[in-house]
Amino acid sequence: MNNDISEAIEGLKRYLGYLKTMGINEIPVEQQSVVSSQWSEKPTLQTLNLKPQIMNTDSIISPPSSLEEIQKEIGDCRRCKLWHTRKNIVFGSGNPKTELVFVGEGPGEDEDIQGLPFVGRAGQKLTEIIEKGMGFKRKDVYICNIVKCRPPGNREPEPDEVAACRPFLEKQIAAIKPKVIVTLGRPATATLLNSKKITISKIRGVWHEYSISTGIIKLMPTYHPAYLLRNYTPEVRRQVYEDVKKVREELKKI
Ligand code: SF4
Repeated sequence: MNNDISEAIEGLKRYLGYLKTMGINEIPVEQQSVVSSQWSEKPTLQTLNLKPQIMNTDSIISPPSSLEEIQKEIGDCRRCKLWHTRKNIVFGSGNPKTELVFVGEGPGEDEDIQGLPFVGRAGQKLTEIIEKGMGFKRKDVYICNIVKCRPPGNREPEPDEVAACRPFLEKQIAAIKPKVIVTLGRPATATLLNSKKITISKIRGVWHEYSISTGIIKLMPTYHPAYLLRNYTPEVRRQVYEDVKKVREELKKI
């Protein structure tokens, strides 16, 4: 039985190696919502037009790199046009062995200057959510963005920029192997769920899945802290605290 499994794995590796030599670096994988029966009335992947995820064949063939190795690989990155205007690459920060990773959109002005994620006003709001809303210490989680360089004027990252930087994010997640990912806002959620057509107000608060070579990570979308700075109504506050409460309860179960 074990021999059969080993042979199957070796066969899969050979096939992926063959695909790679043919220039195919990504394969689609089936993705299913993990919405439990109690949330069955919530939107499904189909109604939200979510596509199957793409899994990078590199992550199957090679063991995950460490965060240090990934940072070294980024180096003085010029893989997309954002390098022209950045002051610093904002790689990510926090506990590399955490069970909880937050993924935002991209560095803002303060982050660009300091080279650290979420250190401005939106960062203070995120810290408040982590510490007051979840009862964790910020240093115990890991925080990063879908692009590591600041988009000029804090605009959304463009598709070519996200595509260029996405392998680094995928490798960071594979290196940390968290139990839960919280995506902050629409661009981060759309990137990790591989769908352009999502509305964060509809998709937030519902469990989804993110696949890596070693398994499935639960993913909870919620609002970006910068949105909260502009719209911190009692209703939005209630929704965000409801989302992070689900995450806290899930982490207690694991
Ligand atoms: S955003 Fe990412 S891909 Fe683009 S230059 Fe910065 S590190 Fe490189």
